[in-house]
Amino acid sequence: YAKDSGRNTYCFYTKQMNSDGMEQMWLQGQLSGGLKNRELRLHYQPQIDLSRGCIAGVEALLRWEHPERGMISPARFIPLAERSGLIIPIGEWVLNEACRQAKAWFDEGHPLVVAVNLSVLQFKRGNLLETVTHALEDSGLPPSLLELELTESILLQDQEAAIKTIAELKERGVKLSIDDFGTGYSSLSYLKRLAVDKLKIDQSFVRDLASNPEDAAIARAIILLGHTLQLTVIAEGVETKAQLDFLKNEGCDEVQGFYFSRPVPAAEVAGWFARDVSPFPGDSGRVLQNA
Ligand code: C2E
Ligand code: MG
Ligand code: MG
Ligand code: MG
Repeated sequence: YAKDSGRNTYCFYTKQMNSDGMEQMWLQGQLSGGLKNRELRLHYQPQIDLSRGCIAGVEALLRWEHPERGMISPARFIPLAERSGLIIPIGEWVLNEACRQAKAWFDEGHPLVVAVNLSVLQFKRGNLLETVTHALEDSGLPPSLLELELTESILLQDQEAAIKTIAELKERGVKLSIDDFGTGYSSLSYLKRLAVDKLKIDQSFVRDLASNPEDAAIARAIILLGHTLQLTVIAEGVETKAQLDFLKNEGCDEVQGFYFSRPVPAAEVAGWFARDVSPFPGDSGRVLQNA
């Protein structure tokens, strides 16, 4: 009897696993078609410079518009792309597209820094330096307007190789930031060896900033650490005035989050420019008004 029920449980579990696995395999298969059929898009989210009260740059965030499933989140398909290796051509597409778009804004008189997320696999397997160099040369974007967002996990692999690649990228003139800072496993000693420009305070520390003293202490400590090392500090996931006020008060340099804007298609970014006329346009658009 017990054996029977055990087996049933097992069967049920297996079916569940299989259907999850099937779904994943199906999506994984769809993704290469998605890349070829131009179903991938970049959305852009503003990064607000608090001292100047203007948009310093944008983060490029990948979207997949599946013809039947609709918009699929990167949290869902990036892990699949990493598993299949497809993140290499996808990452290359992202770099090219982000540079092309940033150059178009630059040519229109809006020199925005565009920040691009990199996967660990691009460091390990792709010839990242070549890909970045090619994206810059092909688009004509000044290298200082490209920022690469790395995570601490890059250093868990081959640390020496990663440090070398990062140094070469820096020589190329691009900016570097550490994304989700404080959530990784690396020791802080890498900050000394990596020529990064910016720390991004992870949104998990920002969420309860106003109510949780531990989160407030961590955010404050990251700002202090960054400034001591002469780095720019940006907070991500800013959704409320209370979070913004805290960060402003602690001297955080930049903020990014739904309070200002969700990630939007490139065409909507033009709307921000129209309002980005004076450093503190008190009565104009929402993005800057909130700063
Ligand atoms: P991330 O780089 O840490 O990006 C921040 C995520 O937080 C984005 O989710 C963004 O839409 C979301 N976000 C921004 N402001 C707020 C806010 O105020 N509140 C909340 N709750 N969320 C906010 P998204 O676009 O779904 O991207 C998720 C992750 O997928 C990214 O995290 C990044 O790790 C990865 N990703 C996105 N695009 C790319 C890409 O082109 N290449 C690679 N390798 N990874 C990417
Ligand atoms: Mg990011
Ligand atoms: Mg992040
Ligand atoms: Mg994240």
